[in-house]
This record gives sequence, structure tokens and C-alpha cells, in this order.
Amino acid sequence: MTVEALETELRDLLGDKGVSVEFAAREKASIDGARLSPVISEQLPLGFADLVAYPADAEQIAAAIGAAVRHGVPITPRGKGTGNYGQAIPMAGGLVLDMSRARAITEVGDGFLTAEAGATLVSIEQAANKTGQQVLMYPSTAQSSIGGFISGGSGGTGSIKHGMLHHGFVLALDVVHALPDARLVHVEGEAADPFIHNYGTAGIIARATVALEPLQEWHGFFASFDTFEQALSVIRPFADLEPTPRLVSADLATLANALPADPGIPADRASLRAILDVASIEAATALVLAAGGRVDDIREGPQTSMKISMMSYNHPVEWLQKSEPNKYFHVEVSGDALVDRIDEVHAVYRGGMLHIEAQKGRPIGMLVGEYESADEVFAGFDRLAALGVGYHNPHQWFVDYEPERTFETAKTTDPHHLLNPGKLAAKPAVATGSQV
Ligand SMILES: Cc1cc2nc3c(=O)[nH]c(=O)nc-3n(C[C@H](O)[C@H](O)[C@H](O)COP(=O)(O)OP(=O)(O)OC[C@H]3O[C@@H](n4cnc5c(N)ncnc54)[C@H](O)[C@@H]3O)c2cc1C
Repeated sequence: MTVEALETELRDLLGDKGVSVEFAAREKASIDGARLSPVISEQLPLGFADLVAYPADAEQIAAAIGAAVRHGVPITPRGKGTGNYGQAIPMAGGLVLDMSRARAITEVGDGFLTAEAGATLVSIEQAANKTGQQVLMYPSTAQSSIGGFISGGSGGTGSIKHGMLHHGFVLALDVVHALPDARLVHVEGEAADPFIHNYGTAGIIARATVALEPLQEWHGFFASFDTFEQALSVIRPFADLEPTPRLVSADLATLANALPADPGIPADRASLRAILDVASIEAATALVLAAGGRVDDIREGPQTSMKISMMSYNHPVEWLQKSEPNKYFHVEVSGDALVDRIDEVHAVYRGGMLHIEAQKGRPIGMLVGEYESADEVFAGFDRLAALGVGYHNPHQWFVDYEPERTFETAKTTDPHHLLNPGKLAAKPAVATGSQV
């Protein structure tokens, strides 16, 4: 049988620790963060791995891919499986390539760091800090892998200043094409773009070089307000603080109450949390006080920054879902209307609640609603657009960032359609809107 023959070859290439056909390992490799979407959850399970490989370095990643291609077995790459659209689910079965052992940080230089695909963003930030530098951005799931972030993420802590991950964060990649003699192919600068945010469908990232900048002295800043409108009123001014904050998140009291207990997040108050350069704290405090809020805590140290990061982006949604399972969904949203027309934005969905993140130019956020049906979720998209709200549909798994370019690239890099099948094959059934 093809899969058994591949298993035998992979054991030769990677050793016994490098392959598993155990049910538990296959099951773990077939689940990602898609449970965040009730629309996708209704369609689970979407696929099940036949075997899992754990290459230990970039060269083994290439060797495993070559073997799978020679046996005609589909390959789904996997970092930490935290992506929340089902992108890491092996829909055609076959091989899941778990990158967690290939996690070496191979070089830290002036302004750059090179790591294997499975290195976590936490370890990358720590390695950068040791050389007096910091990574330009990392997702709120900071324990996720660099390969998964580049292939499935968008931005996070650091994005106020540096935008999204396709805005200069990735300097170079070693990618592997799905060819029988698969090897590491080095691409730099613009040549790396066709491999960003398309779920490994055009090539699998074995090694990445990302940009660093000089380390700043960051403080965790916690403020609270009587009303969410007061917190919203400082979101844009916070984005314009100098030096630019690394992160600024705000929540209604209901969402803030669902977050992990913290003295900086008092009960039943709208919460604003920020990672601020020490030089901007005085100005930030003045903004909070002028808006009628209060500063509850200011803390030093990288742990506080990580903690604040891990309560940003989708995390308030996830905490809310934990506190009341099967009740909520979310849509990724953006634009000034999130501040200027908040009551209308909230009214788009039953129980509507916005979690907001400061960005240069236009805030972004997660609009939470109470879930009834997929149709109702999708029907809200037009109403959001009519309010001038940009939206992104997190309830589908198809590549929706530059899909045409990915199609073209994959013609040569994946001629047998073996890379993460099911993610590039069809057009999304529902319009996905602009990228948030
Ligand atoms: C609560 C919550 C909060 C989140 N917050 C953020 C956030 O702030 N910012 C953000 O950008 N994302 C966020 N995400 C989404 C996700 O966690 C991140 O994008 C994360 O960086 C993905 O990394 P991973 O290692 O878990 O990747 P995975 O989930 O394992 O993979 C993601 C996609 O990339 C593919 N892939 C994995 N490794 C490779 C590789 N080496 N080469 C090619 N393709 C590969 C997978 O097949 C999959 O399609 C959040 C998710 C959750 C559940």
C-alpha cells in the first residue's frame, strides 16, 4: 500500500522517532483551532491523517516531502495547529508534516534572524532580545511556529508600526516544492512573497529569515473605563503615540470579564491594555484621564508584554467561548466605522460586541455575535460593508490572499496538487471581503 511504503521510507530517512501511525498522533495532527468557528465546527471532521512525520531539521523536511511526492501521498504542513479556519486539517488524508522538532534558531545577525519552520515566536523573540533586538511582530498565539505564522497568520504585536506579515517582515525563505527530488530553494525579498499566507499550497517553508529591530524598553499598561465608548475614543490617539505602541487592545466589560483574572483588568469595566515604550507612558496616561478613564497598573518586563499579547486579537473571543460554550462566533473587521459608528456595528449581529486593536490609519477588530446559523453570519457581511466596515470571513478555509498568484506558482511548485489539498482547489462559496 502507498502509505505503508511511504512509512517505511520515512523511517529510513527520519528514524523511528520521525514517523507515527498511532491513532492518537494522527488525530492530534488532524485538528486545528477551527473550533473557534461554529460554522466550520458544524462541518468537522474535515479530514484525517494517515501518518505523521516529525522531521528534525530543514533538510529532513525536504527529504520527507520528496518521499511523499514519489509515493503520490498528499502533504499537509503543520506548525502548532493554532490556525482557526481549518487550514491545517489534512482534508485528503495522507501525510501531516509536523514541524515542531525542526525548531533550531540558526543565526541571529544585525537586523535579522534565521530559524527553522518549527521555531516558536516566543523562542525567536527571546533569541532576538539576547542580542539587544526584537522581532518586528508576533501573533497573539506567540507559542505558534514561525512557519505557521508566515503561512497562516496575518499580524499581531508590532503590527501598529510594521503592518501585516507581508509588509517586509519576511526577508528570505527556504521553501520546498512538491517534486520527487525535493530540495531547499532559497528565495529572498519579493521572490518570497508567493509563499506567504497561502497555507503551504505553493511550497512548504523549511527555514525563514525575518527582520529584527533594536530592542525597546516596553511596559505593560492597563487602563479601564466606565464605558466602552470612552475606551474607543482613545484607540486612534494611542496608535499615534510616539514611540509607536507595540499593541493596544480594548474590550467591552463583558469581554474583559471573560479574560484571565488580572489586577489590571477590574471587573465590569471596559478594559484597555497596551504594550508601550517607556517614553510614551506619560502621554498615554494623559489620554486615558482626559477620556474619563483610570490607569489601573503599569508593569515592566517581557512576561507582562507576552501576557498582554496573549489577551489580544482572537483571544478575548476564545475566552468568551470558553466561558459560554457554543454561543458565539466572530468576524474579523476593520475601519474607522468601528469607532465612529460603534452602535450600528454592534447592531449587525444579535449580542454584537467588538474587540478592537489599534492600527495606524484604521483600527481592526473582532466583532462577536451570538450564533444561530451560518446564513445569518454571512448575511451580516453586506450590512458591515454598507457601514464602511472592512471584513474578512474566518469561516472558510480556502486561500483568499492572492489566490491567483498562488495558482500560478503552484503550477510549477506543486504540479501533482499534493500540497495541502482542498485549500486551493475551489473558490470560497461566500465572498470573503477585503483582507483585515
Ligand atoms: C485565539 C487565537 C488567537 C490568534 N491570534 C492571532 C494573531 O494575533 N495573529 C495572527 O496572525 N494569527 C492569530 N491566530 C491564528 C494562528 O494562531 C496564527 O496565525 C499562528 O501563527 C499559526 O501558527 P501555527 O504554528 O499554529 O500554524 P498552523 O495552524 O499549524 O498552520 C497554519 C497554516 O499554515 C500551514 N503551515 C504550517 N507550517 C507551515 C510551513 N512550515 N510551511 C508552509 N505551510 C505551513 C498549515 O498547513 C496551515 O494551513 C490566532 C488563533 C487563535 C486560535
